[in-house]
Amino acid sequence: MHNKLQQIKKEAEERIKTASSLEALRNYRVEYLGRKGEITAVLRSLKDLAPEERAAVGQAANRVKDHLEELIELKTQELNARALQERLLQEKLDVTLPGTPRLSGGKHPLTLVREEIENIFLGLGFEIVEGPEVELDYYNFEALNMPADHPARDMQDSFYMSDEVLLRTHTSPGQVRTMEEKNPELPVKIIIPGRVYRRDDDATHSPMFHQVEGLYIGEGVTFADLKGILMLFAHKIFGQDVTVRFRPSYFPFTEPSAEMDISCVICGGIGCRTCSNTGWLEILGSGMVHPNVLRAGGYDPEKVIGFAFGMGVERIAMLKFGVDDLRLFFDNDIRFLAQF
Ligand SMILES: [Zn+2]
Repeated sequence: MHNKLQQIKKEAEERIKTASSLEALRNYRVEYLGRKGEITAVLRSLKDLAPEERAAVGQAANRVKDHLEELIELKTQELNARALQERLLQEKLDVTLPGTPRLSGGKHPLTLVREEIENIFLGLGFEIVEGPEVELDYYNFEALNMPADHPARDMQDSFYMSDEVLLRTHTSPGQVRTMEEKNPELPVKIIIPGRVYRRDDDATHSPMFHQVEGLYIGEGVTFADLKGILMLFAHKIFGQDVTVRFRPSYFPFTEPSAEMDISCVICGGIGCRTCSNTGWLEILGSGMVHPNVLRAGGYDPEKVIGFAFGMGVERIAMLKFGVDDLRLFFDNDIRFLAQF
């Protein structure tokens, strides 16, 4: 019996060691250790042996069994490792290749400028409010001292949905909406950023653009406050070197009205193409709130007074970044947008 076991062991060892596939190993396991395998047969035949032989042969058979199990396990690992090695060689995987970079997005230049404007006014105690882009004629014109026959309406060629509803041509309707909501609360210190729409389309005009409107109503607010706050704003956004000037102007919703210019940020005031050789750049419109607008908002113009201003975000961004064509902001060209 011992001889037979040794013979089986020797043969099995040889075959396992030279096995060339996992499938062959599985077959050998069945052949020697399976339910009908040769070692299993030896263990089963123990009952036919003389009692004194049984224990010794049983132990020997179990040792051979464990030994073969171990050999099969080791060989399986070896074949798996070899298979992996071959696959890696075939795939020609080059772990030194650089990875695929994941592009990270950034803020649009108009968003950057709008946020900068917002932060300056937040720092001055203003609050940010928003209004609807589809607006009633009443808030867009009527309540801002522009009745139906007012010639100033022609300055803002509008997109009408119906006689009463249009896409807002400026963010100013937010002034009256906020006053209606807040009165009689004082002071009202708000800015209204947002999209506005006009029928214009060329290198310096877009049918959709962005404005930031501002309104400050309180008791004893003066034109000096207007100048002080807007001058501070100009210095914060364009730097301490710029000088500002106010020119008399006309807006239906303010009286008196003024345009604010800054000294040209390109030439420093000497005169260049950007400033049409004047040395000045127009930045925003402003003025003391017209009594009719205060009344529309529910405030008594005999008791309160205030100022308002409005600026184009695109205009500020073009001057700040030296962009000469407005349409670049809306082309969605990554080569342009990635520069900010
Ligand atoms: Zn200039």
